[in-house]
Amino acid sequence: MEFTEKALVLKMGRFRETDIWLRLFCAGRGLVTAFAFGGSRSTKRFCGCLDQLVLATFRVGSNRRGTYKVLEEGTLLHAFPGLRSDPRKLGMVAHCLKFVEAVQVDTQGARPVFDLLLETLGTLEQSEVGAELLPLLFKAKLTFEQGLKPDLTLCVRCGRPAWDHEALDHAPAAASSCTGLGFSVERGGLVCVACGGQHMDPGAEPLSIGAARTLEWIGASRPADWPRLALAPEMRRQLGRVVDRFVAYHLGLRWEHGMYRKI
Ligand SMILES: [Zn+2]
Repeated sequence: MEFTEKALVLKMGRFRETDIWLRLFCAGRGLVTAFAFGGSRSTKRFCGCLDQLVLATFRVGSNRRGTYKVLEEGTLLHAFPGLRSDPRKLGMVAHCLKFVEAVQVDTQGARPVFDLLLETLGTLEQSEVGAELLPLLFKAKLTFEQGLKPDLTLCVRCGRPAWDHEALDHAPAAASSCTGLGFSVERGGLVCVACGGQHMDPGAEPLSIGAARTLEWIGASRPADWPRLALAPEMRRQLGRVVDRFVAYHLGLRWEHGMYRKI
């Protein structure tokens, strides 16, 4: 089946002498692997399109037996020069692209992920987002958009509002990890000490009320809002742990040795 669609190149590789394969994220159908035969020689059909981090409109067909996809033509839309010239930003982008490739987004879920990815790249190209923050924000937002957004306003065990713990949070004890709230991945949301005595869910990650609110903010934010966000190191660590466990639990993915592994 032939189609023409806007896509971002997540990965590019060469095989044989002049042939190229691309791992595309297509706006309306998600991940597609396609082959550009003679691609490295053909500047006319694929002008500037056969490279990682290129946004282009691709015409994709298939071989005669329909067993694999063939790139027929590409029209370059944007090559993100502001990201290519900045190794620090490129590192963050690489992380996001690997995540998108690892999450098995179905056709229906492709469009929101595609939009989120492009908005993220556009924001990062035009402004600064903390290097430690961007992958965290992107992973959290993408996971929430898969319909997995946790309830961050009430304790999932007793229904007590999270802000009941605000006084506790600002007490001197707040400096320690025990501030009265935790995030239970298994239960899918916040848990409080008020209903669990001193024994919070053993597996729950400590989460300050500020961190819970930040997570709520991330869920409602768009990438254009992200440059405004600054987080204290402890809050960033808390959120990092919660988001990583959330992603591992719901999407079965863990970041190991520079790549996402299915667990
Ligand atoms: Zn509770």
